[in-house]
Amino acid sequence: MTMQSPAFASPLPRRRTRLVRVGQVAMGSAAPVVVQSMTNTDTADVAATVSQVADLARAGSELVRITVNNEEAACAVPHIRERLAAQGLDVPLVGDFHYNGHALLGKYPACAEALAKLRINPGNVGAGARRDTQFAHIVDLACKYGKPVRIGVNWGSLDQAVLARAMDENAARATPRPIDAVMREALVMSALESAAQAESLGLTADRIVLSAKVSSVQDLIAVYRELARRCEYPLHLGLTEAGMGSKGIVASTAALTVLLQEGIGDTLRVSLTPEPGGSRTQEVVVAQEILQTMGLRAFAPMVTACPGCGRTASTFFQELAASIQRHVRERMPQWRERYDGVENMTLAVMGCVVNGPGESRHANVGISLPGTGETPVAPVFVDGQKTVTLRGDRIAAEFTAIVDDYVVNRYARKSA
Ligand code: SF4
Repeated sequence: MTMQSPAFASPLPRRRTRLVRVGQVAMGSAAPVVVQSMTNTDTADVAATVSQVADLARAGSELVRITVNNEEAACAVPHIRERLAAQGLDVPLVGDFHYNGHALLGKYPACAEALAKLRINPGNVGAGARRDTQFAHIVDLACKYGKPVRIGVNWGSLDQAVLARAMDENAARATPRPIDAVMREALVMSALESAAQAESLGLTADRIVLSAKVSSVQDLIAVYRELARRCEYPLHLGLTEAGMGSKGIVASTAALTVLLQEGIGDTLRVSLTPEPGGSRTQEVVVAQEILQTMGLRAFAPMVTACPGCGRTASTFFQELAASIQRHVRERMPQWRERYDGVENMTLAVMGCVVNGPGESRHANVGISLPGTGETPVAPVFVDGQKTVTLRGDRIAAEFTAIVDDYVVNRYARKSA
């Protein structure tokens, strides 16, 4: 199953980067910005991890990262890969390593083979003199198995030796800079110096992706602008520890859209804390919606809906908007396989005659529901033309059927 959908012809200039291949997924250069996610299952639990990776991949995650934190997890990785393949899922797996990655990858070659990319954090590779040796060991293994590496610096685990050096250099300046600026510089230094070290050990530049995640929006923007200015490695964007619910979504969106608008960012992950009982796939949907609302990529038909107001006659309007959004999300896995360009379809569900017909005409398929005091009819517009007026208690079912028919008749069938 090929997960990458085509990019819009984006008007935004992209930062110049190298192209890195992660399995079948292209990252950087002119490739579409890649959506990725991470599991929160115990990787050693093969069944649970396969199930969650499958859910994330089917939701549209083009890479899925799994933690590889101990021998049981390393043993499980090839089995996870095999079971995904048995389901027809070829989504590349990224192994997340901290502290013992060199030992696990050395001892479990099948784990290294099964992964499409390795993620290492220079601050968590090892302490003191062991840091360089263990970093070199992982890079050797990446070269041996032909795997790209994300060098992922994180504010919470910044390499203390780099930070201490940055502090010393700052103290020696005639006019020392503020501490937060020094910490941002230390993050950038850690990422760039680790990448240079990896290259000096034989990892080619087209196998390196960088990230430098922080949890503050303004710090993230500043750090990535600086990384973008100083290197041509593809950049993995993400606001780390973004949080839960609307706070996590808003903070991630605020940070990532500024950078994407400037052409910075080749792949992204939205690090949402799931609500208790909530789906892990929400982070994939949010990442896709960030890219789609910016016009950078298209993943699923977008539903335009007015917010409703005192003219809205009932909650039916909100229920229809929600049910159509849910319907297209549920149908997309099949539609994506069968119909070329269906992800670009636009839908409108509007609450009254004030803006309803106008917005509906601008969508591929739109409906304008009756507001308070209006005749209880709902005109439907298809590609700008009014085609039918719905009435009665089957409006939702009939409108859904019109959307389904539109997909079948409007988009060319893909060859099998
Ligand atoms: S389209 Fe009508 S119901 Fe919707 S917000 Fe505008 S005035 Fe209110």
